[in-house]
Amino acid sequence: MYTSCSTHVFQLPLASPTLKPATTTNTYLIHSQDQVMVVDPGFDHPDNTQAIIQAIHTLGNPTVAGVIFTHYHKDHSPGARGLAKLYSCPLYCHEREVDELEKTICPLTVARTLKDNERVRIGEIDVRVIHTPGHTAGHIALYVEDDAVLLTGDTVISQGSTWIGPPDGHMATYLQSLRHLKQFPASLIGPGHGPIIHEPQQAIDWFLSRRLERERQILSMLSTEQPVSVEQLVADIYAGQVDPDIIWVAEKTVLAHLIKLVEDGEAVETTDGQQAADRNRAFLIRGA
Ligand SMILES: [Zn+2]
Repeated sequence: MYTSCSTHVFQLPLASPTLKPATTTNTYLIHSQDQVMVVDPGFDHPDNTQAIIQAIHTLGNPTVAGVIFTHYHKDHSPGARGLAKLYSCPLYCHEREVDELEKTICPLTVARTLKDNERVRIGEIDVRVIHTPGHTAGHIALYVEDDAVLLTGDTVISQGSTWIGPPDGHMATYLQSLRHLKQFPASLIGPGHGPIIHEPQQAIDWFLSRRLERERQILSMLSTEQPVSVEQLVADIYAGQVDPDIIWVAEKTVLAHLIKLVEDGEAVETTDGQQAADRNRAFLIRGA
């Protein structure tokens, strides 16, 4: 069953092979008049497809106007295959997400690409597309203006924290996207994972401060003489608290912070970023 977020927005948490502590990915239905848009169909499993069909039935069987993907990751997108067998509807994503998405939803293809600030009509309402790169290059959020509901994909989640995996993920861009989202007067956030967030501004501020705190912590662990590797930093920061299955996620996110410090002129890399494995890449504080 779904949870009603607002007049037009419904949330379905569906099982997916996502990252711990989350075990589900949220699919959203945006419904107005005789149309419904599916946002992030999730992982491709018959039970998930069935749950989405059931929810559409409960809404009175509106026409499926399309599927919009916040981003291509495999816990958010391949469920489109199950839906495509039943509904012939167009698939939408940001123009910078098409190549990766089409690999994940193969053999399906994207019918229309979306740009920042464009509006998509669903029944009687408009949904605004917000380009929020950082988690992936073509990640988007959606703002349902009539309900003041912001669907944030993985830019803001309420279970675990967003990971940033270079080179597709980029920390400075991610922080800009968080600040951009703050400009929308949302009364609630429908995140990509976890329950509805009722205090959007505080949640976004928390994500921003958490990232900036981590950045300062990493900078404080670097020295001017002895290069410190990503592997060492992860060991010291997380002190064995990260599940070994997802240690690569911590490594990617720490690397994303280090790349930002290099871009900001605060650190330098002593390894060849093109050649070295993520965990072996090493950094120094940039001397005065
Ligand atoms: Zn993701």
